[in-house]
Amino acid sequence: MLTELASSHIERYARQILLPEIGGAGQLRLLNARVVVLGAGGLGSAAALYLAAAGVGHLIIADHDRVELSNLQRQILHTTERVGQTKTASARQAIAALNPEVQVTLCTERILQEGVDALVQQGDLVVDGSDNFASRYLLNQACFLAKKPLVSAAVLGFEGQLTTFRHGVDATAPCYRCLYPHPPAPGSTPTCRSAGVLGALTGILGAWQAAEAIKELLGVGETLAGSLLLLNVLHGQWQRIRFAKNPACPLCASPNAIGERHVP
Ligand SMILES: [Zn+2]
Repeated sequence: MLTELASSHIERYARQILLPEIGGAGQLRLLNARVVVLGAGGLGSAAALYLAAAGVGHLIIADHDRVELSNLQRQILHTTERVGQTKTASARQAIAALNPEVQVTLCTERILQEGVDALVQQGDLVVDGSDNFASRYLLNQACFLAKKPLVSAAVLGFEGQLTTFRHGVDATAPCYRCLYPHPPAPGSTPTCRSAGVLGALTGILGAWQAAEAIKELLGVGETLAGSLLLLNVLHGQWQRIRFAKNPACPLCASPNAIGERHVP
């Protein structure tokens, strides 16, 4: 654990150390922080790059896919040269080139029920860059059990949404299942693969996830917990909607729910 900033830290992070909300103490906190990023896709690319650039000391990147040519329109961790490599290995190279001091741990297993708890335990906070409902429900539950904040985003077409779930650390805070109690039937909703997505939109929301993660790690600003940001870049519109804990939430409403695993 680092206890003081080196002169190279002061130079590299000068523009954010200047911010009174961060300062030297905040930078030290970021350097000692561990963040899990689930998914090295469009959201995870922007989130991981900005977290690495900001000096978050240890990133745990989980993804089981390989880089495909069709990923490169939005997944800026990866390059044409690295098509065919695992996304995690590609992510490690991109992060090392940007900020070699960041420690990177890779998880290339598909995240299923058995592995998700161990993954989430490795971080102080989790960024959800996954592209499917099963992973979102699994992470929501794992973060509840492990008492970790979860910064969540989703994108499709020209639209995206973003929020932070603090149900693991604040008993009054709503969770993903308070917002969406039950997963949609498989195949009933469009996906980026079937309906497309604007690459720049994934960058906007992934970068915003990095900003929310930094706020949560430092305890500064106003948390997005209990607020859902909705963005439509085609029409240049965004909204912030408040939502509350659901007293009948199948996960977080009752202490008894802790022992019940939800299988998406
Ligand atoms: Zn809930």
